[in-house]
Amino acid sequence: MNFGTFARAPRALAYWLGVAGAARRGSGCARVLMLHGVPRRHARLVRSLLGYVRQHFDVVPLSVLLADNLRLRGQLAITFDDGLRNNVEVAYPILKALALPATFFVCPALIGSGAWLWNHEARQRLQRLGLAPERIEARVESMKRLPFAERLAEEARIREATPHFAPTEQERHEFDLADWDELKALDPALITIGSHTLTHPILPSLDALHLEREISQSRKVLEERLQRAVELFAYPNGDVDARSLDCVRRHYRGAVTVEEGSVLPGSDHHLLPRLNVPGSRLRFALALHRDHFFATPISASGSQVASSGNAVMMARHSTIMKKNGSEARAT
Ligand SMILES: [Zn+2]
Repeated sequence: MNFGTFARAPRALAYWLGVAGAARRGSGCARVLMLHGVPRRHARLVRSLLGYVRQHFDVVPLSVLLADNLRLRGQLAITFDDGLRNNVEVAYPILKALALPATFFVCPALIGSGAWLWNHEARQRLQRLGLAPERIEARVESMKRLPFAERLAEEARIREATPHFAPTEQERHEFDLADWDELKALDPALITIGSHTLTHPILPSLDALHLEREISQSRKVLEERLQRAVELFAYPNGDVDARSLDCVRRHYRGAVTVEEGSVLPGSDHHLLPRLNVPGSRLRFALALHRDHFFATPISASGSQVASSGNAVMMARHSTIMKKNGSEARAT
């Protein structure tokens, strides 16, 4: 716990216990929680956090927040990015037990290929080369800013430098993606499947044709393979520029970013902000009661690496963004 959280601990505890904050929870906004991987070691914590929102919020499917003339009164939607297998094996049973709806954003071109998200693979391979965590993070962040072809070339160089890379059981549990059968088996009454592009590229780094393909084809493939409507989208790494926003508007009903904030009256349905889920109960309680009076900007230039943090349930080495004193991770 850092000093800021320590100083606010009494208030956080009151929120956590439900003895304060009712007015804030029901104020004229809605919230969208952002989670990524949920490895087994975090199952108890996640169960506790989701049990808390079940008790104190009106948990709804994300699509409910897109309804016309919706009265915002503290609704909360739950989202998981990246389509990791541990979302199915660990998070889904918790959601089912608590009867909580959620949206899983997945990358269809990676499903069944045995591949990981490129950034997950790059981090773990760079770790084998003995690089310090800060240097690994800096390298992956610089890769996110490269034009697409150059990023592929950089990935190839990292693979060449780690020819004997073999993931451990623990790494597979953290980074393997769910397969088609696992996704098909998710109860559609509880789990909505959304698109996270075909292959998780950084959208502003793509040319127009490639951009269109990643955004439109991902929906098409998901709908064909899962026989479900796919109307929601999550921007990989939260990176969105005017071109990608325009394309997402044409193909989806709504989309989520990684900008920290609440859904307010007039919020753009294709730039919905989210709340990162921190790795402690008290910080989570504080985050859910924070004011978000500012408008959500478009993050055209992408995320910034600010520090190493202690959020635990997202992919371990993902980007940490500091904004308005809060942390958000994106992969
Ligand atoms: Zn992602």
